[in-house]
Amino acid sequence: MFGRKRKNSTAVAENDNYHLIDLSGVVKNYQTPAGPFTALKDVELRVDPGEFVAVVGKSGSGKSTLVNMITGIDRPTTGHVVIGGTAIENLSEGQLAAWRGRTVGVIFQFFQLLPTLTVIENVMLPMDLCNMYSSRERVTRALHLLEQVDVAEQAYKLPSALSGGQQQRVAIARALANDPPILVADEPTGNLDSKTADAVYALFESLVAEGKTILMVTHDRDLAQRVTRTVVIADGEVIEERLANLFPALTSEQLVRATRELTPRRFAADEVILHEDHDPAALHIITRGSVRAWVRTPSGEEVVAATMGPGQYFGEIELLHGGANRATIRAGQQGVELAVLDDDAFTALLAESPETREAVEAMVDERLRENTAARSNGHAH
Ligand code: ADP
Ligand code: MG
Repeated sequence: MFGRKRKNSTAVAENDNYHLIDLSGVVKNYQTPAGPFTALKDVELRVDPGEFVAVVGKSGSGKSTLVNMITGIDRPTTGHVVIGGTAIENLSEGQLAAWRGRTVGVIFQFFQLLPTLTVIENVMLPMDLCNMYSSRERVTRALHLLEQVDVAEQAYKLPSALSGGQQQRVAIARALANDPPILVADEPTGNLDSKTADAVYALFESLVAEGKTILMVTHDRDLAQRVTRTVVIADGEVIEERLANLFPALTSEQLVRATRELTPRRFAADEVILHEDHDPAALHIITRGSVRAWVRTPSGEEVVAATMGPGQYFGEIELLHGGANRATIRAGQQGVELAVLDDDAFTALLAESPETREAVEAMVDERLRENTAARSNGHAH
């Protein structure tokens, strides 16, 4: 997938534990007249450079709260938020504002341009606040950004003279003012008609192609399908998107529960994950990298029956069929990261969702055919 290539990875990003956006154990409680309310429950979220992530979920599920954690607009009650290697809980309010100005461009549903400043002044404001670029550069840069989003002709007007779509483009130019690596947008197309929304979306796509990382809250299912990754939030919890994609018949409650049961695991290049002689019985979902399934021909030669990548799963044959006709699964050349659901949790899930069970059984049949074919053909690929 495009967003996973990490085209603009740096020396830091080569470190396996580094993520551009890294939220761990994030809990957010709000005080309400009715008592404390937990809007985010132990959220784990990692985003790598070059990803274009959509955050979806029902109204009130915690999307804006999550966005506010990432932009530092609000702080978690407990847990850690590390953005671009900076633990933002350690920053004072003043440091936070300067940090945000350089690191995260924020785009809101209602644009939030300052009404008394001209369009170009709005775009120059973050440069002024962070003291980036010389005053002459600020003007040239602002004009260039406005050109990039196709509203340069409106530069010296007040925002109120512009259409909603144009105002949102100005807001995007403003978010790009200090050339931050990350853009975060909270329902940026929520107040635009679908054609204008599409243009804003296309603009985001081109920014991602240029190396920006974008996290966008959206209600628009069509837009959400065109990103490189979707994060689903239900009642303040993040659902593992790959589970949701793999097993669309599961309810959000089932997904929340299954997500909690997932254990991340990592294997180095060529390391054995499942051996044909063992009976490990767990569902393995590939989150990054790839694996190869090796089977033995009648003459004893090992050949590759299949290669699997992110979003695909394995291990289900053992769960449903026991020992027969298995393959040895090894990590691919770049190693692999997995989310593993143990035997009991997976079996319980299948028992609750007959539709999911049928889908998994169909997959098993296909895999067994592939393995048999590879055994008799006997040539590696
Ligand atoms: P979303 O953006 O997904 O619609 P929010 O993150 O805005 O959801 O809100 C999640 C939940 O937290 C909602 O139930 C909302 O009412 C509550 N909430 C949000 N902000 C506050 C606040 N400042 N005080 C109390 N409750 C809040
Ligand atoms: Mg919201």
